[in-house]
Amino acid sequence: MRTELENMLARRYKFMRKGKTLIEQKSEGFIGDLYSAFGCECGDGWYQILDELCSEIEKIINESDSPVDLEVNQIKEKFGTLRFNVSIDGPEKECTKIEELIQEAEQKSASICEECGNPGIIRDDLGWILTLCDDCYVLEVARSLMFEFDEAFKELAK
Ligand SMILES: [Zn+2]
Repeated sequence: MRTELENMLARRYKFMRKGKTLIEQKSEGFIGDLYSAFGCECGDGWYQILDELCSEIEKIINESDSPVDLEVNQIKEKFGTLRFNVSIDGPEKECTKIEELIQEAEQKSASICEECGNPGIIRDDLGWILTLCDDCYVLEVARSLMFEFDEAFKELAK
C-alpha cells in the first residue's frame, strides 16, 4: 500500500502508528514487529476496508469502561484476502467484538478488488490467488503473460 495511505491511517488511529522501522529492527538483530517494518502489505484497493475497520475498532476502544490494549502485528494479503493480525488485551466483551469486526473485514476483502477498490472476485487462475475486478484481472493476466514471454526469451538467448 502507498505510504501516503498508510500515513493517513496512522494519523487517524493511534494504534496504527508505527514503531521501529525495518532498518532499526534489523540493527537490533530481530524483526519482531512486522507491521512497523513492512506497513500494510496489500494493495491500495483495500484502504477503505482498513479505514472502516479501524474506525469501528477505535469506537469500541473509546467506549470501553476498562482499557483495551491493541497492538497491530501484521497486515497483509494471503490467499486473496486481507489478514489483520493483532494482539488484544482487555475486557472479554470488547476483545470478542473487535475479533468479530476483523473477521468481517477479512471476509469483505474477498469481494473488493485489492488493486482499485471496485467490486471484485477471487481469481485463482493466475498462478497465485488475488481478489480483482474485471479490469485489474485483465491487466494482471497481461502482466503474467509478459513475464512468461520474458522468461522464455531469456531462455532462448542463452
Ligand atoms: Zn480493480
